[in-house]
Amino acid sequence: MTNNNIYFVANWKMNGDLSLIKRLKNVINLSNDKKFQKSKIVYCPPYTLISSFVKKTKKSKIQIGSQDCDESKGYGPYTGSISSKLLKDIGAKYVLLGHSEKRNKGDNNSNINLKIKNSLKVNLRIILCVGETLLERKKNKTHIVLKKQITNCLKNIKNIKNIIIAYEPVWSIGTGILPSNNILANDISKLKNFIKSKYKVLNPLIIYGGSVNSKNISELKVIDNIDGFLIGGASLNEKNFIDIIKKTFI
Ligand code: PEP
Repeated sequence: MTNNNIYFVANWKMNGDLSLIKRLKNVINLSNDKKFQKSKIVYCPPYTLISSFVKKTKKSKIQIGSQDCDESKGYGPYTGSISSKLLKDIGAKYVLLGHSEKRNKGDNNSNINLKIKNSLKVNLRIILCVGETLLERKKNKTHIVLKKQITNCLKNIKNIKNIIIAYEPVWSIGTGILPSNNILANDISKLKNFIKSKYKVLNPLIIYGGSVNSKNISELKVIDNIDGFLIGGASLNEKNFIDIIKKTFI
C-alpha cells in the first residue's frame, strides 16, 4: 500500500444496539495509537445509533457517517425521512451513498446525484458506492457500468475533493468471493485513470468493499493503489475489525 492514509469504513447495515457501543473502547484506543496514525476509521451505524456513536468517539480520531440520507434537503414535511442537514446537525461527518443494497430498493444514479449534491452543501464527505453485477462482469461490461454510475451520480458536480469512491463488486458483497489481486489492482487503476482525467484530480481516493475480513486482509493489503476498505459483516465484531486494521499495517 502507498504511504497515504488508509480508510477503514465500517458499514453496520441494519445491525447494532447500544450494548455494542460500549465495546468500541479498543477501537478508540487503536485510533489514538501512533502506530496506526495512518488509519482513518469511519463508523456508519444505523440512524438510531449515530448520535450515541458521535458522543462515544468524541475524544478519538474515529469519525461517524450515515449509511444513507434522503434526497430532500434541509428540513420539511417529509415524514420518515432523514436529510443530510439533519445528519450534519447531530455530528455525522460522512454519508455512504449508492450502496447496492439501497439501489436494490429503488435508488438510482439520478436520486443518488441529488443526495450527493445536498450532502456536499452541508459539508458532509461522501462515500459513493459503485459496482457491477456478476452478469455485467461476465459480459465484460464492468468498466462501462462503473463509468456510467460515476458519471451520472456526479452529474454537474465539479469539485470531487470530498468524495471517496467505494468500488464494491455486487457479487462480492457478503458472499466471501473476492476478485483476485491482479484483477482488483487493474480495475482500480482503470477507475483512477478515468476519474483523474474526467475530474482533473491528482489522486482520487478509491476504497474496496466486498467480503473483506481479518483473513484475506493480508493478501489485499499488498495492492498498492487501494486507499482503504469498506467493511460490512466483519466490522460488527470489534476484534475482527481491529485485526483488519492491525494486519494492514503490520
Ligand atoms: C458492504 O456492505 O458494503 C460490504 C462490503 O459488506 P461485506 O463486507 O459484508 O461483504
